[in-house]
Parts: sequence; structure tokens; C-alpha cells
Amino acid sequence: MAEPSEDLTPFEAVTFFFHEVADQLGLDDATRQVLAGTYRELRVQLPLRRDDGTVTAVSGYRVQHNGARGPYKGGVRYHPHADLDEVRALASLMTWKTALVDIPFGGAKGGIQVDPTALSRSELEQLTRRYMAQVSYVVGVNRDIMAPDVNTNAQTMAWMMDAYGQRHGHTPAIVTGKPVPLGGSLGREAATGRGAIMVCDEAARDAGRAPGDMTMAVQGFGNVGSWAARVAAAQGYRVVATSDVRGGIIAPGGLHVDALGAHVREAGTVVGFPGADPLTNEELLELDVDVLVPAALGGVIGKHNADRVRAPIVVEAANAPVTPVADRILRDRGIVVLPDILANAGGVTVSYFEWTQNIQQFSWTEERVNSELAGHLVTAYRQVRDRAAADGTDLRHAAFAIAVDRVATAAHLRGYV
Ligand code: GLU
Repeated sequence: MAEPSEDLTPFEAVTFFFHEVADQLGLDDATRQVLAGTYRELRVQLPLRRDDGTVTAVSGYRVQHNGARGPYKGGVRYHPHADLDEVRALASLMTWKTALVDIPFGGAKGGIQVDPTALSRSELEQLTRRYMAQVSYVVGVNRDIMAPDVNTNAQTMAWMMDAYGQRHGHTPAIVTGKPVPLGGSLGREAATGRGAIMVCDEAARDAGRAPGDMTMAVQGFGNVGSWAARVAAAQGYRVVATSDVRGGIIAPGGLHVDALGAHVREAGTVVGFPGADPLTNEELLELDVDVLVPAALGGVIGKHNADRVRAPIVVEAANAPVTPVADRILRDRGIVVLPDILANAGGVTVSYFEWTQNIQQFSWTEERVNSELAGHLVTAYRQVRDRAAADGTDLRHAAFAIAVDRVATAAHLRGYV
């Protein structure tokens, strides 16, 4: 495989990792073609009538990457960068993620290419309902199930479920990550952040370290980052820094994460949290901490800063935070990267539990959710660690190898290739 370039698009970057592993597995050309490409890509036009009466045409996407192992599954993000290529990349990551944690789903992703912070609540509701109406032809409880991602949440899912239900009758299992009173699962909101810390705990234990003597910096204080920070602090990690789009904060003695959550609810940002000093998002990534958790957007660790990352463990709570060039730099420097398809798979794992609860019209306790989540993630972590040792590769390539093997087996059994 050629040297990676720093100019890869998001989909090219994910596909780069795929092809490296396909080479290593000796995958035949036909299987490689089927697994690398996407199954279906839908772009829809969403005319949005602003509160001031003007209309803008917004683009929405749903990409179904691979369905060999089950219904397509994946979130929907609202972001100006959520174009077809990025959604494609994220759909492909979902295929590998669901295979790695061994839940019976394929991979998909959706996006609305818009800055949601510029929209009112009623504009967001209108856009969400229209998106669901336009993509409803390709989704379904046994076809494709959506969930939250960047800038979407339980409320977004409630609107989606309602919009779908208006045409098809009450169908809670059409989306996951719903509000609990509407059939959401206990533990779903925390699941991605909690899962990242569960996987981090395993890696720390393997490194002979205990949370009580480890420091952590978390980039991003959205759903994933704030829960990762909260769960980590409860486990004994000293969370010294975090950030959001407005900037970061650092408190070497440790941040009081619950108090920070209250500050964010008031101020809308981590910035200005009493007792902490300001720092930039770039500085946060280069802090001298034991664990760095990028929990915001993709591509934040690249060629420009990978040689300045000082944390010996990087937990990819976000999707694709490390570029292929940076991945090599970190590996050569002996930094352990817990890859996104393992580290942030807790969210979709509990989405699977939510879907099964909806189908059975039964609900699980939070304890059951968390212990079944740990079962899936700890098993996946150990399989990845053992595969990396057996193949002499790093955790990302081992995780992809396990996932690609599983998807290839399903595709062959179905007779696709
Ligand atoms: N958006 C989350 C992810 O990237 C969750 C997807 C889901 O629950 O379907 O994994």
C-alpha cells in the first residue's frame, strides 16, 4: 500500500485503512470492490422556510454502506461539512463498527448539510420532519434505523419518529436514541462516552495502570465528551482539561465535571468555568496527560500536530479524529490508539439494545444495559488486542481485520461475491 497523503477526503481516508487491511488479509478483488463501495446513496433537497419567510434549499443525505450482516444502522449529523463524501465515510465506519462489536446490523449514515446553531427550534423541527419524510422510502425497522450524531439528540429522534409514524403508524424502532418516555433506552445517552471509558479501562489495565493515578484531557464536551468526562471522573481518572467550539479550559488539579455540566447548561459553553484557566483546542491535544480523548470532530490529529501529541493513550471517542498520516506517526512513536470503531461503539451497541426492547415492547433496567454493554465492548477489546498481537499490527488494523473478516463472511454466505 502506498504512503498515505494528508489531502485525502474523509471517505478516502477510511478506505485507505480498509485497503491496508484488505492487502493484509489477501482479500480477492471482487470482495474488495463490494466491501469498499457503498450500496445506496440518497441526496434529497430540503426547502427550508426560515422564520423570516425566506426559503433556502438545504441538502440532506442518507448513505447505506453495507447490509450483509443486518439492517443498515447509523446516526444523522447536522453540520456544514456533512457533505456526501463525509457521510459516506461515516457510513463505512458504521459497517466496521457494528461488525466489530458483533451486533446484527450493517452500516449507514445520514447528514443535513447545515449549521444548526443558526436555526431556531421550529426551523430545526421543520427540517428534521422534512428530512425523515424524504428519506422514508429507504428506511424501515428491518431496513435502516437512524440515531443521533453530531448536533442531533433525543429531541431530533422524537420528531423523526413522529414524522415516520404519521405515514406508517406508530413505529418506535424506526430510530434509536429517543427520549426515554417515547421508548428510548435507559443508558443510551451516556453509552458512547461510557463505552469509550470502558475500553480505556481495559487498555489501562493491560498497561499496568489504574484510573486513580491517570490524568485525562477530553476534546469536546457534547454528548460523547461530557459523558466520557463524567464517567471517567467517577472511575477515578483526573480529568484536567476539556473544550468545545468556543475554546477549552484546564485545571491541573482536576475539573469538577458535574459542576462543569451545570455551568454549561447556564452559559452554553465550558469557557469561563470558575477555577479553570483558558486554553485552545490545539493546546489541549498536545497536553502532557496519560489519556487523550478526542470526542469532537474528525481530522483533529493530523500531520501538523501528530508529533506533538504527548499522551501515551489516545481514545477515539469521535469518528475519524486521526488522519492516516497521523495514525502512522502516532504508531511509530509508540502511542496506543484505541480506534473509533471500538472506542465509540458503545452508542450503537445500546442503540441495538433499544431496538430490541422496542421490538419486544419490553424495557431493560439501566444496570442490565450497562452490563450488556460492557460484555460487548470488553469482548471486542480483547479480540482486538489478541488479534493485534497475533498479526503484529496495531489496534486499528486488528479491529478492521476482525470487522472486514466478518462482513466478508456474511457477503460470501449471502452469495454477493
Ligand atoms: N452516531 C453514533 C455513531 O457514530 C451512533 C449510531 C447509532 O446509534 O446508530 O456510532
